[in-house]
Amino acid sequence: MKRMEKTHLAGLTIDELAAFVEGIGEPKYRAKQIFKGLHERRLQSFDAMTDLPKALREKLGETAAAATLRVEARYVSTDGTRRYLMKTHDDLPVETVFIPTEDRDTICFSSQSGCPLKCDFCLTARLGLLRNLTAGELVEQIVVVLNDVYGAGRETPHGTNLVGMGAGEPFLNFENLIRALGIMAEEEGLHIVPNRVTISTAGIVPKIYEFAKLEKRPHLAISLSAPDDALRDKLMPINRRWNLDELFAAAKEFEKSLRRGERFTFEYVLLGGVNDSDGHARKLANLLNRHGLQRVKINLIAHNSAEPLEYRPADAERIESFKRILESKGVSAYLRTPRGRDIYAACGQLAAKSEPNPVRITR
Ligand code: SF4
Repeated sequence: MKRMEKTHLAGLTIDELAAFVEGIGEPKYRAKQIFKGLHERRLQSFDAMTDLPKALREKLGETAAAATLRVEARYVSTDGTRRYLMKTHDDLPVETVFIPTEDRDTICFSSQSGCPLKCDFCLTARLGLLRNLTAGELVEQIVVVLNDVYGAGRETPHGTNLVGMGAGEPFLNFENLIRALGIMAEEEGLHIVPNRVTISTAGIVPKIYEFAKLEKRPHLAISLSAPDDALRDKLMPINRRWNLDELFAAAKEFEKSLRRGERFTFEYVLLGGVNDSDGHARKLANLLNRHGLQRVKINLIAHNSAEPLEYRPADAERIESFKRILESKGVSAYLRTPRGRDIYAACGQLAAKSEPNPVRITR
């Protein structure tokens, strides 16, 4: 990656910010003011931090960056979902999706630009891995979206939930992810606590064990999408590295870390004629029951077909039948309503696509 010459302050913890501030010859207490400015007040330029002396703002401008992502385009779906196509300082795509519901907002952020995993049903996979996003870029995605929706620095009406389900495999960018989540959880910042965050992995098994041990751990979702190794090898090639037995052993261990009332999720993308038969549903229920997982639910996701992928969504009757079979075998199954399909914002559709779009607002 082309190195940034300036330090991106959004990726620093309060302690690191204190060290940075002292390094440029300023008193340590300024760090808290700057941290609040960047995160709690969501200011994206030093000039806007009018509680800082002008000389300090200028000094910061010379050595540091308050913001690095540029919004190239914003797409608004008929269902209120918004998709943001941003660019990093080195011109790589970052996509973030805002999904409003009546009582809460959910922001789906990307952990990588592109993705190295080659899930066959996913558009992002076609980009390959461009690079890991930095902690600052992870945090900034949320700031940009909240400012766009509510206005810079304005209070948000209700809490924000985060899902790490955008482009990329979060567990292949583990260190930056955990750092960013720590920064976002700060009370004097965005204050999005781990309990409001769900991270989705395609099955990077060693990291599931590591994630289970985190003291302040977000929720976990594992993308499954096939009930046996042969089909999963084809749909999600990461399965050739860690197969279902290994994945379920990790899931079982993870289950031990669940808090009271918490469950974890398996996601299953239903692909018409590929993994959506009654036989697949029975196999899936048997797989879960055989491994004795108790506190798990299945989210069924109708595939969001998009060119040039050759998959088609499972039809509504098939999905109902699939769900019924799981439930009859004691598995909790839920149907996730796809949001923002018309603007390529739905699962597996993030690939810096810009056409066709009903509403494109370039800024
Ligand atoms: S589904 Fe997720 S993990 Fe798989 S290729 Fe797409 S972005 Fe990567």
